[in-house]
Amino acid sequence: METVLIFGLILAIAWSVVKIWDALKEAVKRQRPPPPRVAMVNDGSSITELRNTPAGQLGAALMTGKCPDCGHDGFYEGPSGGASVNIYCKNPDCRSAFNFTNMFGEGHGERIGKAPDSIYK
Ligand SMILES: [Zn+2]
Repeated sequence: METVLIFGLILAIAWSVVKIWDALKEAVKRQRPPPPRVAMVNDGSSITELRNTPAGQLGAALMTGKCPDCGHDGFYEGPSGGASVNIYCKNPDCRSAFNFTNMFGEGHGERIGKAPDSIYK
């Protein structure tokens, strides 16, 4: 009789431990944030994180809202197409021009020379 009670008690404790363990695993799973979305670039032979490419580094600099060439605040917006827009440094003495795209919250930038005179009239 006593043996049966002890065996039952051990079974009950083991069952409780398993249930608590499952509940902890579920709680940890719920708290884990989703994996971050990272913009990737495929150049045909390899896939690279955008932030590790020259276009990604220029784009990240443009995302700050400051011109990477002269440090001036702000850009004029020019023509846009698809997901990209041409932006021009607001400093009339700099006039750096870029084609900019926001890719999943990361910038992609390419230099397109100097802004046209009409921008600064
Ligand atoms: Zn500038």
